[in-house]
Amino acid sequence: SPLLEVRGLTASVKETGQQILAGVDLTIREGEIHAIMGKNGSGKSTLTKVLVGHPHYEVTGGTILFKGEDLVEMEPEERSLAGLFMSFQAPIEIPGVSNFDFLLMAVNARREKTGLPALGPLEFYSLVSPKIDALKMDPKFLDRNVNEGFSGDLALLDEIDSGLDVDALEDVANAVNGLLTPKNSVMMITHYQRLLDLIKPSYVHIMENGKIIKTGDSSLATHISEGIVIDDYPLLQYLL
Ligand code: ADP
Ligand code: MG
Ligand code: MG
Repeated sequence: SPLLEVRGLTASVKETGQQILAGVDLTIREGEIHAIMGKNGSGKSTLTKVLVGHPHYEVTGGTILFKGEDLVEMEPEERSLAGLFMSFQAPIEIPGVSNFDFLLMAVNARREKTGLPALGPLEFYSLVSPKIDALKMDPKFLDRNVNEGFSGDLALLDEIDSGLDVDALEDVANAVNGLLTPKNSVMMITHYQRLLDLIKPSYVHIMENGKIIKTGDSSLATHISEGIVIDDYPLLQYLL
């Protein structure tokens, strides 16, 4: 059976009831790399967050099976233990550098670019700690070395390429490629072709208005970034 099988998934913002996911179908098998593309606001991040059990969202319909088990019924920690991994920053392998150090560096690099003063470790800790709580992540995550625990059977990578220069992008791509085994699978969200040139996806999906509206092979991404109308692209009979 597939590693991940999503059928007719609908989900809403818990607080307001606003529907974001409007019937997502997605099948990921062992050893496959799936790229999710689509315009800003199409629901890509929400899909990832719903898969890991982010508390802001409520599944209102459909099913998610992970290794044949009902994921919706599982707590975020159970999902993680079952082998679902989500990165919320670039998973570059840096021996001896903790996730905390890495996130602090990444945040400060971005702040510097936008002219904001760098954060000290304590300031950053008070910023990141509530987010770790809100995501129900294990607080020990911050102490672990970068890339440790990046060992799930299915890694969900949300825009790990954003804000990276070419060298860093190559490091990230190498890290992701290094993860791949015949059993591990990756679902990565990206806006850009450049990551997909370095990590060849088995399938590319286009998301729009909370649904996957197209599925193809890696050439689908090329078509999109070239601005070619993708309506005629032959759909793979993959989502049956
Ligand atoms: P993408 O990652 O494709 O850019 P998102 O999943 O972040 O899209 O968002 C999809 C849509 O859902 C957007 O219109 C966004 O504003 C809305 N949305 C997502 N999460 C929330 C939330 N917690 N509260 C309100 N609106 C949300
Ligand atoms: Mg977005
Ligand atoms: Mg997003």
